[in-house]
Amino acid sequence: MQIMDKSDKIFVAGHRGMVGSAVMRRLKTQAFSNVVTRERAQLDLTNESAVAKFFEQERPHIVLAAAAKVGGIKANNDYPVEFLVENLRIQNNVIRSAYENGVRKLLFLGSSCIYPKFAPQPILESTLLSGPLEPTNEAYAIAKIAGIKLCQAFSREYGANFISAMPTNLYGPNDNFDLETSHVLAALLRKAHEAKTRNDRKLVVWGTGKPRREFLHVDDLAAACLLLLEKYDSPEIINVGCGEDISIGELAELICQVVGFDGQLAWDTTKPDGTPRKLLDVSKIRALGWRPAITLQDGIKATYDWFVANFAQ
Ligand code: GDP
Repeated sequence: MQIMDKSDKIFVAGHRGMVGSAVMRRLKTQAFSNVVTRERAQLDLTNESAVAKFFEQERPHIVLAAAAKVGGIKANNDYPVEFLVENLRIQNNVIRSAYENGVRKLLFLGSSCIYPKFAPQPILESTLLSGPLEPTNEAYAIAKIAGIKLCQAFSREYGANFISAMPTNLYGPNDNFDLETSHVLAALLRKAHEAKTRNDRKLVVWGTGKPRREFLHVDDLAAACLLLLEKYDSPEIINVGCGEDISIGELAELICQVVGFDGQLAWDTTKPDGTPRKLLDVSKIRALGWRPAITLQDGIKATYDWFVANFAQ
């Protein structure tokens, strides 16, 4: 078992993103004193030689690979080239440089969209590569699967302790609230807020409202990441979710209730539903003693407060 020392040098790749910033908050409250970050303007993670130079100079002990190009169903569907190329570049550079510079442990973050579209629910880790992917996020999923396989290859061929976690759909502070590129929860929070502010009677939701998704607050994921860095040393992927799902229709109603919008929901069925259901089997991480602390209702409320304080006009 690998225990992290509070003075270990930890590189958080993607520290400005929703996941990276949650990990930064968690590292701070846990009194880790040697965290290394780089702004995008200082270090372009898609640039191979720049990443190699950074690792040679800094030589971190631990790496949390949370940098990625991410987006909701529309962005993923519209820009497969960018999702594939950028993510492959970032992860290849970070994972390889980590190995070449003696990183003791690396945690790579994947996504629940790596699993087959019609995987039995709840989704077991062992269903990876057992069937076709959901087309709307295939490019992103293929990149993430390549990242998992690269970590496993470094582990098998060179004995590296590089692990991969698969979080379910995430939300929380620093989420993307752009309506074209965001995920559903952030999009609906913003739409409901703006509809309330404008006194609209109608809020447009994409798809049929029937797909089911599982939502995890990013602070719960951050706690899971630290636990995995401390306690999980297997190259086998591990799911991180809350173990419960909800339909998009129910989510929209819950969000309207939290925001205080009492108009009608309207369904835009010209927009894709995506995969019918995505609920992770979380027995493996539960057995390590982790479970989420934030309920969906409380998490949505806290995220709405954050949105109003930081984003809303
Ligand atoms: P997914 O989990 O990869 O499908 O990503 P999303 O979070 O983008 O979408 C989840 C589901 O919410 C899909 O069925 C979408 O069609 C639906 N949805 C409903 N309204 C919205 C919206 O305003 N934005 C997004 N991104 N999805 C929406």
